[in-house]
Parts: sequence; structure tokens; C-alpha cells
Amino acid sequence: MDCLFCKIAAGTIPAKQIYQDDLVIAFDDIQPQAAQHKLIIPRKHIATLNDLSPNDTHLIGHMVQTASKLANDIGIAHDGYRLVINCNPHGGQAVYHIHVHLLGGRQLHWPPG
Ligand code: 5GP
Ligand code: ZN
Repeated sequence: MDCLFCKIAAGTIPAKQIYQDDLVIAFDDIQPQAAQHKLIIPRKHIATLNDLSPNDTHLIGHMVQTASKLANDIGIAHDGYRLVINCNPHGGQAVYHIHVHLLGGRQLHWPPG
């Protein structure tokens, strides 16, 4: 399958990986939008949030738990951070393999653009 994040998960495209387990991988975003910008992806290919099945409930929970743990590990949990999952064009999704953005290390603004 011609999917960038499947290739990162398989190790055929390099990334600055900071965490991995049997379900997810986390790595630095190549174009960081904050001092800390990590991506948490499932090893399993799921194109968008619209493609989740009830079987993926544990996986999605694990992605969020992993993001929260990483926020703590990189020292932004106390000051705060933001998790984002973009969906389809109006959501600003560019890579069609679901991913949680973990953003922090600066004051983030609301509402987002
Ligand atoms: P989306 O817009 O789909 O929510 O986010 C895709 C994210 O993937 C963007 O923040 C973008 O900078 C990041 N990205 C795109 N290509 C690569 C890549 O080859 N390596 C890494 N580490 N991040 C990438
Ligand atoms: Zn994929």
C-alpha cells in the first residue's frame, strides 16, 4: 500500500521515533508547529476517523493514552498541550493514515484556524 505512515511504521522511511509498542508508533513531526510536535500513529492502516470500526475502540484509546504519557515524558504535561486528529479536507488532513498530533511547548490559541 502506498501510504507514507505505513512506510514509517515499517521502517522503510526514516523518522525520529520516540516510542513504539505492538499497537502504535510515535515520532517527531517533520514540520513542527510548536516547540514540541509529535505524531502518534497506529501500526494498522486506518485512513480517516470515518473509517474506524467498533473493533478500533481500544486502539484509539491507546493512541490517546500514549500521547498523554509522551506529554509527561517530554515535560509538557503540567503546562499543557493539545491533541488533534484532522479528518478529510475540511479538517485539514494531509496524510490519510490516522494520527494524533501532540502539540505543546508554547501557548496554543483557540479557536484554531
Ligand atoms: P495532517 O495534516 O494529515 O493532520 O498531518 C500530517 C502531518 O504529517 C503534518 O503535520 C506533516 O508535517 C507531517 N508529515 C508529513 N510528511 C511527513 C514525513 O515524511 N515525516 C514526518 N515525520 N512527518 C511528516
Ligand atoms: Zn497507512
